[in-house]
Amino acid sequence: MNVYDSQRIAGILQTLGFEETSSQTQADIVIFNTCHIREKAAEKVFSDLGRALLIKNERLEQGKDTIIGVCGCVVQAEDEQIAKRAPFVDFATGPLTYHRIPEILAKISRKKGTSVIDTEFPAESKFDFLPQNDSQGACSYLAIQEGCNNFCTYCVVPYTRGVEYSRPVAEVINEAKQLISSGTLELNLLGQNVNSYHGEDEHGKERNLSYLLQRLAELDGLKRLRYTTSYPADMTDDLIACHKKIPQLMPYLHLPIQSGSNTILKAMNRRHSKDDYLRIIDKLKQANPQIGMSSDFIVGFPGETEKDFQDTLDVVKYVGYIQAFSFKYSKRPGTPAAVMPHQIEEKVKKERLQILQDLLFSYQDKFNQSCVGKVMPVLFESKGRHSGQLIGRTPYMQNLHAPLSKDNLNKIIEIKITEATTNSLSGEAI
Ligand code: SAH
Ligand code: SF4
Repeated sequence: MNVYDSQRIAGILQTLGFEETSSQTQADIVIFNTCHIREKAAEKVFSDLGRALLIKNERLEQGKDTIIGVCGCVVQAEDEQIAKRAPFVDFATGPLTYHRIPEILAKISRKKGTSVIDTEFPAESKFDFLPQNDSQGACSYLAIQEGCNNFCTYCVVPYTRGVEYSRPVAEVINEAKQLISSGTLELNLLGQNVNSYHGEDEHGKERNLSYLLQRLAELDGLKRLRYTTSYPADMTDDLIACHKKIPQLMPYLHLPIQSGSNTILKAMNRRHSKDDYLRIIDKLKQANPQIGMSSDFIVGFPGETEKDFQDTLDVVKYVGYIQAFSFKYSKRPGTPAAVMPHQIEEKVKKERLQILQDLLFSYQDKFNQSCVGKVMPVLFESKGRHSGQLIGRTPYMQNLHAPLSKDNLNKIIEIKITEATTNSLSGEAI
C-alpha cells in the first residue's frame, strides 16, 4: 500500500513540474513515506530524517533550498513527536490527506519557514483529487479499499488509516483501464482488507470483490489479476469460486492467519478460529488445486505459551505455505495488546521467530525445488544485475532470472525453470 501511495505522491509532484531523481543531494524536495505497523519501521524515519537534514544543510551552503516532507502512518500516529524530534520538517501529512500536497507546498512557498502538519481524517476521498494513475510498468497496484474496522488488538491500522472505505466500482474500472492502456498486464488490487470490499456500482448497488474481479477480468489486455491482503473471515464462497472461474486470477493467495492458537486468535480479536481458517484453505485448494498460499504470522503475542506456538507450527505443516512473512510481536502505543499482562520476553520471541522461519523457509525451498523442470509464464519487469539478464515474476510471485534481451521487458514469456534457491528461480525461454 505504501508503494502505491508513494507512486501516487510522485504523480502529484510530476503534475507540479518535479522530476524524480535517485540522488538525494539533487532533490529539491524529499518525502519520506512512513510505516507505523511495527516499532522498528516507525523509528527508522527519525534516523532517515537526521540524514536528510545534513543534506539539506549541505545544499543550503550551495544556495539551494530543500523541502523535507513526511507522509504515511507515522505522521498520523506521531505528529507531535515529529514536530518535537524533527522541527526542521517542512510538512507532514497522513495517508488519507496526501492529495493536499499541492496546497501545502503553495502555503510553504508563500510563507517561508512555515511548517504544515495535516493529520485530519478528511471527509473527502483522496482518490477524487489525485491525478491520473499511469502505469509504472507491466505490473501495477490499484488501491480499491482502505482502512479497517476490525481492530485486532495488536494493530495500529484502524487508528492510522481510519475506517474502512471502498472505492466505487466505476472508479476502479476507469483506473484499471487507464493502467492497461499505459502498459499494465498485471493488476494487484490493494486494501488493508481487500476482500471486505463493498463498493457501489453504477446503479448505487453495493458490490463485493468477486463481482469486481469478474468485471476486471472482462477488460481487454489484462492478463493477470491478484488481490492483497485478505482477511480470513471475509473469504466468502463466491470469492473462493473466482479462483476456479477466472483464468486471469493467479494461483497464489496471501491470507494471514497470524497465529494457529485459538486462545491467541481470540486475544488478538481475530474473527476466525484455526479450524475456520483451515476449512477456507481446503475450499481454495478444491477450487484451484494449483493454488499456493502465503500468510503473515506474529510470534510472542502477550500470553503466548509454548503450546500456542506449537499450534502455529502445526498450521504451517498443514498448509505448507510457499511464502510467508513473520514478525515478533511489537508493542504499539494505544493498542489494547500493548497493556495486556504476560508480555513475552524478547529472547523467547527471538527463539520462536527463528524456529518458525526455519520451518517456513523449508516449505518455501521445497516448493521452489518442485518447480525445477516445469514451464511457467513469467512476466518480466526489470533488468537483472548482469547484462543480458531480466528479472520477472512467476504466477506464484517467485522472482525469476533469465538470460533475455531487454526487448522482452514487460512481456509474459514461457520459461523452463532450470534452478531454484529458497528465494529465487532461474530459467530459460523455451
Ligand atoms: N489486514 C491484514 C494485515 C495488515 S498489517 C490482516 O488482517 O491480516 C500487516 C501485517 O503486519 C499483519 O498481518 C501482522 O502480521 C503484522 N503486524 C501488525 N501489527 C503488528 C504488531 N503490533 N507486531 C508485529 N506484527 C504486526
Ligand atoms: Fe490490522 Fe488487519 Fe487486523 Fe485490520 S484486520 S486491525 S489491518 S491486522
